[in-house]
Amino acid sequence: MQAIGDFTLDALVELQEPFMDPFDFFPDATPETLAPHLDWLLPRYMDPETRRFIFCFQSYILRTPRHTILVDACIGNDKSFPHRPTWHRRQGSFIADLAAKGLAPGDIDFVLCTHLHGDHVGWNTQLVDGRWVPTFPNAKYVMARTEAEYWRGRHAADPEGVRSLTFTESVQPILESGQAVLVDMDHQMEDGVWLEPAPGHTPGNVVVNLKSGAASAALSGDVIHHPIQLSHPEWSSMACEDKALSHASRRALIERLADTDTLLAPAHFARPTCGHIVSEGDAFAYRLVE
Ligand SMILES: [Zn+2]
Repeated sequence: MQAIGDFTLDALVELQEPFMDPFDFFPDATPETLAPHLDWLLPRYMDPETRRFIFCFQSYILRTPRHTILVDACIGNDKSFPHRPTWHRRQGSFIADLAAKGLAPGDIDFVLCTHLHGDHVGWNTQLVDGRWVPTFPNAKYVMARTEAEYWRGRHAADPEGVRSLTFTESVQPILESGQAVLVDMDHQMEDGVWLEPAPGHTPGNVVVNLKSGAASAALSGDVIHHPIQLSHPEWSSMACEDKALSHASRRALIERLADTDTLLAPAHFARPTCGHIVSEGDAFAYRLVE
C-alpha cells in the first residue's frame, strides 16, 4: 500500500501471467531492438521459459478521506474472451480478495474506468441468475463520455462481433442501471483526484492524477503497458486504436513524470508495480518503490 499524502493506494491483483510474445504485442519491436534489454527484462518482466512479456492484471483501491474508489475492474468472472483461454469464463477470487482488504462490494463509492477494454471493466458486472448486474451496488461508475460513445457505436455497428462481448457483458448493463456517470476527459472527481485526457490507446482513454499535500501520483491505465516502453516510448501496442496518438500521449506522460517525485501506478507492470520514471540517456528507466 502506498500513502499519497492523505490518500492510500492499494493494488488488488487478479492475475499475473506470461501474457504475449513481445513482437506480437509491440508490432514495431524487433529481435535486434529488444536484445540490449534482455538482461533487465528477464525474469521479472519477461518469462524465461515462454519468452512472453509478463503482465499483471490489477485494480487500484484508492481511499481518500471522503471516498473509496476502485480504479479499473480487471477481467472478471464468467466473462467471454473466446480468444484468451486464461481469461475466458474465469472463476477467480477477486471479491474474496477485496474482502481480505476489509471491503465489501457495497463499500465502493466509485468505479473509475480509465477506458472500456475487457481487462479493465470485467468486475463492473457479475453474473447473477443468468443476468449481468452491477457488482458494486452503491457505486457510481465514472467513464469518459467519449469512450462510452465510441464503444456504443462499435457495438451498434457489429453487435455480434467479438469486440462487442465486453460492451454487452460489462458496459451496457451499467449504462442501463442508471449507475453510470459519463464525464469529460478532464473531469475532477474531488479535491486532488482528476482525470487527464490520454487518447490513442482508445479514443476516450484517461490518466487518473492524484495530489494530496506535497505527494502526487499518476494511474496510467493503458498509456504504458510494459516497462520496455520507457526505453522505447514509440512502441504502441497491437491493442492501441491510434498508434501515433498513443505514442504522443505516452511520451507526454513520461516526460511530465520523469525525474519528479510523482509516483507512477501502471495497470499492467509485473508486481511490484509502482515506481518513478528517471531519464537515462535519450530514453527513460524505472525505479521501483515497493
Ligand atoms: Zn486497454
